[in-house]
Amino acid sequence: MIYPLRILIILGCLASCSNRQFTIIKNVNVFDGENVLENVDFVFTQNGIEGIFKESENYINAIIIDGKGKTILPPLINAHVHVRNAENLKEAQKEGIFGMLDMFNTDKRANELRLYNDSLSYAKFYSSNVGATPPGGHGTQYGVNIPTIDDVISSTQFVQDRIDQNADFIKIINEISMNRLNTLQVKELIDEAHYQSKITVAHISDLQSGIEVLNQNVDGLAHIWYRRNSISNENDLNLIQEKEAFVIPTLSVILKVIKNENQSGLNQEFLSAEELKNEVRKLNNKGICLLAGTDSPNFGMNYSLQFFEELLLLKECGLSEIEVLKSATTNIYKKFKLEYFNKLELKGKSNFLLVDGKPYLRIKDIMNKKRVWKNGIEIG
Ligand SMILES: [Zn+2]
Repeated sequence: MIYPLRILIILGCLASCSNRQFTIIKNVNVFDGENVLENVDFVFTQNGIEGIFKESENYINAIIIDGKGKTILPPLINAHVHVRNAENLKEAQKEGIFGMLDMFNTDKRANELRLYNDSLSYAKFYSSNVGATPPGGHGTQYGVNIPTIDDVISSTQFVQDRIDQNADFIKIINEISMNRLNTLQVKELIDEAHYQSKITVAHISDLQSGIEVLNQNVDGLAHIWYRRNSISNENDLNLIQEKEAFVIPTLSVILKVIKNENQSGLNQEFLSAEELKNEVRKLNNKGICLLAGTDSPNFGMNYSLQFFEELLLLKECGLSEIEVLKSATTNIYKKFKLEYFNKLELKGKSNFLLVDGKPYLRIKDIMNKKRVWKNGIEIG
């Protein structure tokens, strides 16, 4: 079903790859992934970015787009999702979310979704495939038959199996409310993943579980801690800083967990919304690398608008606009070593968004109308 589409796209590329049609977006603002350049001309072809100039020279037959009052942004990435089908990838790409980091899936579905990775209209799919969890651990409660780390499958074997199944990184579950891997199993997972040059990300819900995996050199946390009494102190923050670990706060999903509990009238098992945001604020003040992710489709969250909501929530935690934009772009490229993605620069791929307004000054503008180009072709 998918192959004919792929062939069409390859043929389309052969027909147009020699295309040196220039497009100039004039008087536009550019956030290149690190810095902002105001009122510049952004010149590109399908082959790549030709330059970002104070004033561009004349290109013969160039298509001119008025960029006044608009901003170009590098490809956005959602750093925590669970992709259910290819439509999810399409929904994201249309809004300028060029990549999705899937944090738990079956090997089979992950490999099916990877088949879309060269298609223009679909966001690039990266996945841990199955997360590392023991029998009765978090991830086993959904009635799907998944391999677990037990007497038969060791941690080392588990990592090898995931790599054989094309996993892009290794997800480790350390959820306090269910069965957990022991310290040695977690250590072996991280060591083997690193030996095989794979990033490791841990699911946690309380601070102590986070500290445990950080002490074993996990690369990042897939959520911020949110259970009651999970309030970080200076030593905790120093540890995260020293380890150069990243945190994907996923405020979108956790605020819904908290709200849900409040509405059900149960005892307070979690931090308050304000305490939660304050934990993110502390991480940011400490200079810890934050990555934007939503954990869609939990609570029915979508793969498009919710991501922009997450960026507004990060802003509420005290991040500057530039810090928020980095958390959605270059921070993720770097921490997950996503070679396909780069800041916007000369000879770089023509992958970017053109947004009405100035999200680098008012993050809310990220909600505005946008146009998206991928490999220099506008995605309709
Ligand atoms: Zn998740």
